[in-house]
Amino acid sequence: MFNILVLNCGSSSLKFQVIDMDGRKVLAKGLCERIGIDGSLTYENVRDGLAKVKTDLPLPDHKEAIKMTMNSLTDPAKGVLKSLDELSAVGHRIVHGGEKFTKSVMINDEVIAAIQEVSELAPLHNPANLAGIEACKAQIPNIPMVAVFDTAFHQTMPPRAYMYGIPLKYYNEMRIRRYGFHGTSHSYVSKAVAEHLGKKPEDLKTIVCHLGNGASISAVEYGKCIDTSMGFTTMAGLVMGTRCGDLDPGVMNYIMGKEHFDINRSSDILNKESGVLGLSGGLSSDFRDLWDARLSGNHDAEVALDVFIYNVAKYIGAYTAAMNGVDVICFTAGIGENDTRTRFAIMKYLGYLGITCDETANQVRGEITEISTKDSKVKVFVFPTNEELAIANETYDLVK
Ligand code: AMP
Repeated sequence: MFNILVLNCGSSSLKFQVIDMDGRKVLAKGLCERIGIDGSLTYENVRDGLAKVKTDLPLPDHKEAIKMTMNSLTDPAKGVLKSLDELSAVGHRIVHGGEKFTKSVMINDEVIAAIQEVSELAPLHNPANLAGIEACKAQIPNIPMVAVFDTAFHQTMPPRAYMYGIPLKYYNEMRIRRYGFHGTSHSYVSKAVAEHLGKKPEDLKTIVCHLGNGASISAVEYGKCIDTSMGFTTMAGLVMGTRCGDLDPGVMNYIMGKEHFDINRSSDILNKESGVLGLSGGLSSDFRDLWDARLSGNHDAEVALDVFIYNVAKYIGAYTAAMNGVDVICFTAGIGENDTRTRFAIMKYLGYLGITCDETANQVRGEITEISTKDSKVKVFVFPTNEELAIANETYDLVK
C-alpha cells in the first residue's frame, strides 16, 4: 500500500485526492471552499462508491481545512484510511517555480524558502500553495512531501522561445521571460500518448492543446518542451474563457488613458472579463452556451468561437514550424476532451498537414481516442489529462 495525498491549494480553496499507487486508484477526493470566508467541505469516498457529501463548516484558514480533510479521510463511516499512518506521501501542486525548479523536488526548508522567493511572480497562487505546505507540516509533520511545479516542464525551452523583445535588464533584474503553465498536464499527456502509441517520448514531435477554461498549447520535441503559449503570466497565448490571450500591449495603454483605469482594474478586465466571455458581449465563458447561442443565430457567439478556433489553429501551425514537423496532436482538458464541434472546426484548418477528422471517432468525450482518419499523416488524439495522477506519479517516483 502506498497512498498519496495530492493537494492543490488556491487562495480560498483546497482540492484533494487520495490515490493508491498500487493500481493508481483514486480512493477519495474532495474540495474545501471559501477558506477564510465561511467554509464548506465536499467529500467523496470513491473507493466504496459512496455519494458525495457537502458540509458547511467554519474554515478560517488552510490549517483548519487540512485538519477537516484529514478528519474526513479517517472518519470511521466514510473515511478511506484507518489512520493517517496509511498516508505515505503528499504531493503539492505549486504554480510557479521560477527558473529555480526544473523538476519536482522533495520539500524541505530550503525549498520552501525558494518557493517564497519566486512568489512575487505568482502573487495569487504561490502564497496559497505555501499555506498548504505549512498546514500539512503542522497536521502531518512526519510524512514526506513533494512540490510539483506548473512551470517546471517548460524550463527546457531555449532562450529564443522564452525571451521577450524588451530591454535585457528586465530579464536580468526581474526575471521577466516566458515561463509557461499547465506544465504537469503537458508533461503527462505528451508522455502518456507516446506510451499509448508504443513509443518513447524521445521518438515524437507532439503538440499538446490543453483547452480548458484556462488554455495553453505546447510544442514537445523528442520529450522536451521547446515552446508554449502562456508566458510570464497565465494571460498570454490563446484567447481563453475569460482571459485575453496575446494582445498588443498598446491596447491597454490606450484604454487606460481613455478610461483612467488603474492597474488593478486593467488586470481584472484582461483576466476576468475578456476571452470568449468578453468577445461574446458577456454572454458566457462556457463553450456549450456559446455553441447553443451560435446555433440560434448569435453573431457575437459565432465570432468568439471563431477567434478561439482560429487561434488554436495558428498556434498549431507555428509549433509545427518550430519543430520542423509534427507527429501527434493531442486535445485535452474540458474543451479539448468534450467539445466535438470545436475540435472538428480546428481540424478543418489542418488539411495542409495531411490531417482529416474521423467524424465518427470525433464524437467521443473524455476517452483516449484517435480522431484523425487512418490515412492521416499526423495522428490526432483526444487524450484526457489527469493532473492529480501526474502529481501522484512525480511524488511516488521521488519518495520511493
Ligand atoms: P476545464 O477548465 O478544463 O475544467 O474546462 C472547462 C471548460 O470546458 C468549460 O468552461 C466548458 O467551456 C468546456 N466544456 C466542458 N464540457 C463541455 C462539453 N460537453 N462541450 C463543450 N465544452 C465543454
